[in-house]
Amino acid sequence: MDIGQKVLEKLKDEISQSEYNRYIKNLKYDSKSSRSDIAIFTTNNILSAKWIKTRYAKKIAHLYEVESGIKPEVIIDVKGTQNRNKLKNIIKKEQKSESTLLNPSFTFSSFVLGDSNSLAYNVSKAVAENPGKQYNPLFIYGGVGLGKTHLMQAIGNYRANLGDRIIYNTLEQFLNRYTNHIRTGTMDRFRDYYRNCDLLLIDDIQFISRKEQTQEEFFHTFNELHSLGKQIVITSDKAPKKIAGLEDRLKSRFEWGMLANINPPELETKIAIIKKKAELNGIRLDDEIVNFLATKLGSNIREIEGTLIKINAMSSLLRQKITLDFVKNAIEDYLNEKKENITIDTIVKIVAQELNVKPSDIKSKKRAKKIVEARRIAIYLARNLTPNSMPQIAVYFGMKDHSAISHAMKKIEEIIENDENLKVLIDELSNKIETIKNTDWKDN
Ligand code: ADP
Ligand code: MG
Repeated sequence: MDIGQKVLEKLKDEISQSEYNRYIKNLKYDSKSSRSDIAIFTTNNILSAKWIKTRYAKKIAHLYEVESGIKPEVIIDVKGTQNRNKLKNIIKKEQKSESTLLNPSFTFSSFVLGDSNSLAYNVSKAVAENPGKQYNPLFIYGGVGLGKTHLMQAIGNYRANLGDRIIYNTLEQFLNRYTNHIRTGTMDRFRDYYRNCDLLLIDDIQFISRKEQTQEEFFHTFNELHSLGKQIVITSDKAPKKIAGLEDRLKSRFEWGMLANINPPELETKIAIIKKKAELNGIRLDDEIVNFLATKLGSNIREIEGTLIKINAMSSLLRQKITLDFVKNAIEDYLNEKKENITIDTIVKIVAQELNVKPSDIKSKKRAKKIVEARRIAIYLARNLTPNSMPQIAVYFGMKDHSAISHAMKKIEEIIENDENLKVLIDELSNKIETIKNTDWKDN
């Protein structure tokens, strides 16, 4: 598969099926005319080309950069016409005005504040107002879709408006850039690039796990910037000490400044978020519906937003009003569909990874405390997140019969009642499992 096709495949995962079918399906990568820094795509007509350019060009450039380490100029051409130069100029102008990959809608004012995220929000605000001072580095951690990238980019947007030079990179981009520069023997340029910024934002640092050379390079970049008083902000899905395969010297540096975690939103925060997202997307929902959604949907805010957009699209497609019944139906299909996509294998893998035990231990009869706990959690999640029956789950875990599962379920429900931390952990695990579907599960 060439890079353009890969990018389109990735884009497919990030947008809704209907958007994909309508706009992106007919988009073709022109590998002959493209260069490493100019990615040319063609589509059928000028209207789609314009639409794709405004809606997706940035995203395509971003995905392309993730793949190649180079941010290209993206050109959406129309088959058989000579729009290339015109489009090229428009895009050039647009791209000059924004040199980083920050999403302009991730600001402090679009972020809904609640108990679960107030620490991270307040510290981020303080960092934006006073970078390189009290909280350096700022390390934000928490589960999937809880607002880490949003807050990190809110800091970036705030500083960019004041004229600071910002680098926002996912760890993946940092890694790709690193490998490309190593390959071409241009590490001096790599170092210049990272060490000449006022604010370095590294998103999803957990993927640095066990990548020794990248850790080494990041260590030096970190030290250099830190000693110059430049602010560093890092996000991760877990606390530094929980990132397996992270060198101690990096762990300790990540703890120098401020560790701020984001928890899954409590009900009130979820309600406030749903209201805000509905408003931003021009969707009218009455309170009854908002409450229903808040109790039914999980804590991944990206998914909550996706669901809202889907409900809205369905309502206009079917020309039906968004009533409680309509939403119930829509959600039910959606929840069932989600369930069918999750297997116990995935659950076991993720629980094992997060709790640092082996998947085979979870399926074994070992009685070590850590393993028993992990097994119980896996059973609980298997029961809640997959359509498997208790007997089926019993077979999977090599247990006698369904009563053993039912017993394990009772036990863990009891523990969850009294253990807030476990509740949060389970919420985070569910989130992760629902995000990493079986199809795109990657061994790390
Ligand atoms: P993470 O990086 O933690 O996985 P993101 O920052 O990408 O999550 O957030 C996922 C989506 O949810 C984004 O669209 C973001 O704007 C939204 N979001 C998350 N938390 C909030 C919040 N407190 N208020 C408003 N939107 C939020
Ligand atoms: Mg993120």
